[in-house]
Amino acid sequence: MNIDELNLELSESILKSEYCLKRPVFGLGPLNAKIALVGEAPGGDEEKYGKPFVGKAGKNLTEFLSAINLSRDEVYITNTVKIRPTKLSPKTGRELNRSPKAAEINFFVPFLHRELEIIAPRYIVTLGNVPLNAVAGQALRIGDYHGGLVKSGGYENIFALYHPAAVIYNQSLKEVYIRDLEVLRGAIGRQ
Ligand code: URA
Repeated sequence: MNIDELNLELSESILKSEYCLKRPVFGLGPLNAKIALVGEAPGGDEEKYGKPFVGKAGKNLTEFLSAINLSRDEVYITNTVKIRPTKLSPKTGRELNRSPKAAEINFFVPFLHRELEIIAPRYIVTLGNVPLNAVAGQALRIGDYHGGLVKSGGYENIFALYHPAAVIYNQSLKEVYIRDLEVLRGAIGRQ
């Protein structure tokens, strides 16, 4: 099966599910990428443009990638959950982002594994706790595993990073993030 066939199957499953009114955001990037980045779920900008990491977190991500001499075009970028999890603001009645629920993660995780099987990257870089647990197939705390390679869930090289948005909200993570990126640069052999 190729990625288009998988995305078609996923679209059909979404249409038959409670997420049928949502616009899915599929993975994007070279199908032979050596590195795949896995985020949590799309936000408003991603849903609007139909592409992963194009909003504020995406801007951060692009900066972090360039710090290790990687451009977005070289990496495959996807999310664990392919629809935008939302809640209504009681004040404005507008849709706000929220963390994905377990049921949403469980719905999308089998597709994520099949997607990673097709792309077969050498390194899977997880951005935050949700993708780390989804890819690793077990509850690992990011605080214990960030900045290093993890072998789990049948994957040889999972590299756990904090979510780029976490750094927006918690500036003290920035130094840790930069150190982790340097380790990642070493691991992927790009100086
Ligand atoms: N955050 C994510 O985890 N994924 C996106 O695509 C955008 C923001």
